[in-house]
Amino acid sequence: MLIGRKSFGQTADGMTVDQYTVKNQSGTTLKVMTYGASITALEAADKDGLTENIVLGFDSISDYEAHDAYFGATIGRVCNRIANGRFTLDGKSFRLATNNESSHLHGGVKGFDKAIWKADTVPGNYEAGIRFSYSSKDGEEGYPGNLDVTVLYTLNNDNDLRIEYTARTDAKTVVNLTNHVYWNLSGGRSKTIHDHLLHIDADQYLAVDQHSIPTLAKAVKGTAMDFTEAVPVGQRLADFGAEMNDPTGYDHCYVLRQAHGRLASVARVEDPASGRIMEVLTTEPGIQLYTGNFLDGSLASGGHTRYTALCLETQHFPDSPNRPDYPSVELGPGEQYQSKTIFRFRYRISKKLKRI
Ligand code: BGC
Repeated sequence: MLIGRKSFGQTADGMTVDQYTVKNQSGTTLKVMTYGASITALEAADKDGLTENIVLGFDSISDYEAHDAYFGATIGRVCNRIANGRFTLDGKSFRLATNNESSHLHGGVKGFDKAIWKADTVPGNYEAGIRFSYSSKDGEEGYPGNLDVTVLYTLNNDNDLRIEYTARTDAKTVVNLTNHVYWNLSGGRSKTIHDHLLHIDADQYLAVDQHSIPTLAKAVKGTAMDFTEAVPVGQRLADFGAEMNDPTGYDHCYVLRQAHGRLASVARVEDPASGRIMEVLTTEPGIQLYTGNFLDGSLASGGHTRYTALCLETQHFPDSPNRPDYPSVELGPGEQYQSKTIFRFRYRISKKLKRI
């Protein structure tokens, strides 16, 4: 395994950002940087052996600072939305930034995606990676407790990209971490993900109100939300309407079938044109399917338009701090938050499936 490091430039306030490269024996290459502990590239072979980048990213740090789409970033302290930016913990109420209409989104105005993380290399022969760490201060973005977070990215020679999160706090708080990487398995050859075949192992999804806050868990059966059998993502995009509260596309959390806490395969994406296949395994109870509905072709969206790529954000459910009926996102002193997600890459040659 090869590990490299180079400067990715400086932020507007003069902080140096480094980018690390991890390459395995088949040439699959992961690039991550200290700004946001973000994935900047994942280069993988297609069925003809052509290696291409299959995630959205920018070439310069100033573009990352200007954008608002969270390309490849680590999201925290709590990902997704918290209704009205408020929650109570042990009878005490907390107020967070409302940076998405009336909601708190993806950790606030300066979430973990905009922090500069410390990086350590983790070398190895079969697998190697980068461990990022960040200390989030008590009161940061309104959250209680000093929180020490680590995110470990590991690539192995079987083409598994593993992301492991840990966190510890000195006072009771809430934690829900994810990564916001946008996938287009065609490597940019297809301008949209309409033809990507998607399977999600979930019988229910969380319906949302007009602020994208979950209301009730509903059955996917018979709706455009059903990915229990693999179907092209674009096939039912046109079916979206008032019923989904979002006529623009998928932006919903699925209630995964698997018992949470156990690492299991929960989703699979296949791009028929390139033959690339990605399987998603996680310990999390939910997965947010987001089809890049708010990418508007502007500079801040990297010139990308709606449906250019899709996100599969493994996580606890949105608005969990206000939902005692959902699996808890609370973390107390002496406890350790742990979460694991694997993106596993393969490709298909005619009928045979191969590891890249
Ligand atoms: C959310 C979207 C949001 C997007 C921002 C996704 O995780 O579900 O509603 O607009 O992040 O990039």
